Amino acid sequence: MTKAYDALRLKPAITKDKRHVSLQLNAGLLVDLPQMDLSGADGIGLFRTEFQFMVSDFMPKLKEQTALYRQAIETAGHRPVTFRTLDLGSDKILPYMDPVPEENPAMGWRSIRIALDRPGLMRYQLRALVTAGAGKHLRVMFPMVTTVAEMIAAKELFNREVTRARNLGLELPEKIEIGVMLETPSLAWQVLSVCDHVDFVSVGANDLMQFFFAADRDNPRVADRYDPLHPAALSILKFIAQGCKSSGTPVSVCGEIAGRPLEACCLVALGFDTLSMPVTGIGPVKSALLALDVEKLRAAIEPHINIHSRMTSLRDIVRNFCEAE
Ligand code: PEP
Ligand code: MG
Repeated sequence: MTKAYDALRLKPAITKDKRHVSLQLNAGLLVDLPQMDLSGADGIGLFRTEFQFMVSDFMPKLKEQTALYRQAIETAGHRPVTFRTLDLGSDKILPYMDPVPEENPAMGWRSIRIALDRPGLMRYQLRALVTAGAGKHLRVMFPMVTTVAEMIAAKELFNREVTRARNLGLELPEKIEIGVMLETPSLAWQVLSVCDHVDFVSVGANDLMQFFFAADRDNPRVADRYDPLHPAALSILKFIAQGCKSSGTPVSVCGEIAGRPLEACCLVALGFDTLSMPVTGIGPVKSALLALDVEKLRAAIEPHINIHSRMTSLRDIVRNFCEAE
């Protein structure tokens, strides 16, 4: 948090037309936790649990996993922490596990696919999460889900751990919320169906955009080839926001775009009211939102978010609008 945004730290992110937006942090390690207070974040919207595994020389033991999750929950206090289960494979490689050679690792055996095929590791992690959440509010979400059946299977694994803890007479979390990361286009087209099985949806815009535009996010030649403010990208985001809203399911965005002021303003105009971002985004996004009339921005961009649009990006419209405010 730079000095320029210090004064905003304790100010809630409320737009000029009184829309309250929750600005949360993307985190994953113990060192990230103090950033919550330093930035004035409203919680942790994405806790990348694989980071602990990636910085270790060995697989973290159950006790170590539990301790990190508990510390995150306790540091957050009344603020929510959303744990994302292990998102391994593709760009997230463990030094102590042999990588499986694949032609297209981003679309390969990764994340929830590994977890469901080899459930031992995920059950172990879910056990750590249930233990860490004893007497507290526990939020867990599953990454890279492409079908509703995967979400149901993941939830079953979670429920088995809750049942196990109950049978052992262990203290359970006071409240449990289970969510899905919506980061594949296929799940966007099942949004209503998946909402039947979850308490919340979090849009992983990094992967969603990668798969939507078929542009490898780790390949510098193509990663920046698309603009997330392209009407096509905004159309799928709008579709997701409306789907979740119509089923009464809370929805947030946790990809990098949530931390960029113009994109964040657009996301709020599309109906997202929780954004989770790197700590460097909190101040600039809050500053932009405080100056924003969401309803006016919505009216300016809405006519261009449809299949008839001939525009290549709404960036100029949003920039001109935000500068004029
Ligand atoms: C995403 O895909 O947008 C996301 C937040 O997860 P990650 O960047 O860790 O894949
Ligand atoms: Mg992702």
